[in-house]
Amino acid sequence: MHLRLTDEQKMVQKTIRRFVEKELIPLENDVLRNEREGKPSLSPGKLKELQLKAKEAGFWGINTPEEYGGADLGQMMMAIVLMEVSKTFVPFSFGGSADNILYYGNEEQKKKYLLPTINGVKKSCFAMTEPGAGSDTRNIKMSAVKDGSEWVLNGEKTFITGGNEADFVMAIAITDKDLHQSTQGREGVTCFIVDRDMGWKSEYIHTMGEWGPAGLVFENVLVSESNILGELHKGYNLGLEWIGFARWVVGARAVGAAERLLQMAIDYSKERITFGKPIAERQAIQWQIADSAVEIEAAKWLVLNAAFTLDNGEDNRHLASMAKLYGANMGNNVVDRVLQIHGGMGYTRELPIERWYREARLWRIYDGTDEIQRMIIARNLIKGHVKVGQYV
Ligand SMILES: Cc1cc2nc3c(=O)[nH]c(=O)nc-3n(C[C@H](O)[C@H](O)[C@H](O)COP(=O)(O)OP(=O)(O)OC[C@H]3O[C@@H](n4cnc5c(N)ncnc54)[C@H](O)[C@@H]3O)c2cc1C
Repeated sequence: MHLRLTDEQKMVQKTIRRFVEKELIPLENDVLRNEREGKPSLSPGKLKELQLKAKEAGFWGINTPEEYGGADLGQMMMAIVLMEVSKTFVPFSFGGSADNILYYGNEEQKKKYLLPTINGVKKSCFAMTEPGAGSDTRNIKMSAVKDGSEWVLNGEKTFITGGNEADFVMAIAITDKDLHQSTQGREGVTCFIVDRDMGWKSEYIHTMGEWGPAGLVFENVLVSESNILGELHKGYNLGLEWIGFARWVVGARAVGAAERLLQMAIDYSKERITFGKPIAERQAIQWQIADSAVEIEAAKWLVLNAAFTLDNGEDNRHLASMAKLYGANMGNNVVDRVLQIHGGMGYTRELPIERWYREARLWRIYDGTDEIQRMIIARNLIKGHVKVGQYV
């Protein structure tokens, strides 16, 4: 066991760090101004320009298999990259990737949907959640009924990330009510690829974050049989499986943000004088700094272990849930302490802490709430799927 990054990993970390410092952090004031004026955080043109610069530096399709033109650097490298890029709140993502679920498509679907998504020509979104079914995904109501060679989709989805911008959605709908009931929702649902011009509508949902997800409405939307992704009636596992393997990504984002925020708090505490001394000399402040540093390290190791385990070909879902649960809560604790250390200034819009504070709250909700992660972790242990202390 070697508990240090390899030279190659260190090089990638350093390159991304430079990219973040040189290209992204200088955009932070623009992003804050755009968002406060109700504009997109980054214009599509600016995002493309940044993605091209990153591509020139070799960062494109970081996790995309080589056969689709990607770099296929693996999960550990992805974790390192994500932790670095999350040190800014500028919402940048590297180009050349697609939702993993699209890799389950057949050759024709890969040509029509996967490759254009990887190449940035098309945007996708994934829609499971409905107004009556969030954590309890087996309670979805959206239906797909066969009519000749087509399926007729009716229902609503909600809180869909990217749903306002997407060219197509991968939507989960019930295709066999009886099978759905008799298998307690495990079967009888299917994933459909549905182009926007097939007729679904989206509406922006205002949240406490800066860019909203969408509500989607399907009214008699006709979808051909060839747009079924994966197997008929087996869409539930398809949807949940790839989410389960990738949940640690939320923890990685939290680690990056928390490291930057903690550094801001350390710097500020050395400058801010109260009662004749910098607040950094007060134990009350030091303990907040120490607790934050310990929690960040712990979250980082969970994230790296979840990523490493998947690279190693093992089922990482238990660790991914742990990294998501702990990382999301760590991020919320740290941003709250950092705001407290900044006093009244922390609460103003002069500093970006309040923005991070609002964003961090989402980490505990999407991709499965805190409570659902605890449920998964406890169930794995109680049922013996995972042994206590199994991973190291
Ligand atoms: C900004 C944003 C983006 C999102 N993006 C997407 C997306 O792209 N695609 C998509 O399909 N969904 C998306 N979601 C939906 C998200 O996954 C759900 O909001 C989340 O799973 C929780 O579901 P819910 O909101 O219906 O809460 P509910 O399931 O109604 O839960 C309410 C509360 O009860 C708790 N709870 C529920 N069941 C239990 C239980 N058995 N035991 C203990 N506590 C329980 C929950 O933890 C929560 O605290 C997004 C949500 C948001 C806010």
